[in-house]
Amino acid sequence: MCEGGIALAPTETTTVQYDCYTCSGAFKSAEELREHAKVHGTGTSHYSCPTCGTRFESLAAFSTHTQQHKS
Ligand SMILES: [Zn+2]
Ligand SMILES: [Zn+2]
Repeated sequence: MCEGGIALAPTETTTVQYDCYTCSGAFKSAEELREHAKVHGTGTSHYSCPTCGTRFESLAAFSTHTQQHKS
């Protein structure tokens, strides 16, 4: 046998990840992300513009804002 002793056990592949825009942390559920966002002291404002750093409470507002940078 030639398994090489490498412990690369196949794990569940998560197809969906919720990324924290403030610290780039990744979470498996929106609820985890929401709870995590509290550590940044901004409550629900976990959408942060990577270009100018402005924070938003809703994805809609965040998306609208980021599109302004592309124009
Ligand atoms: Zn974070
Ligand atoms: Zn911006």
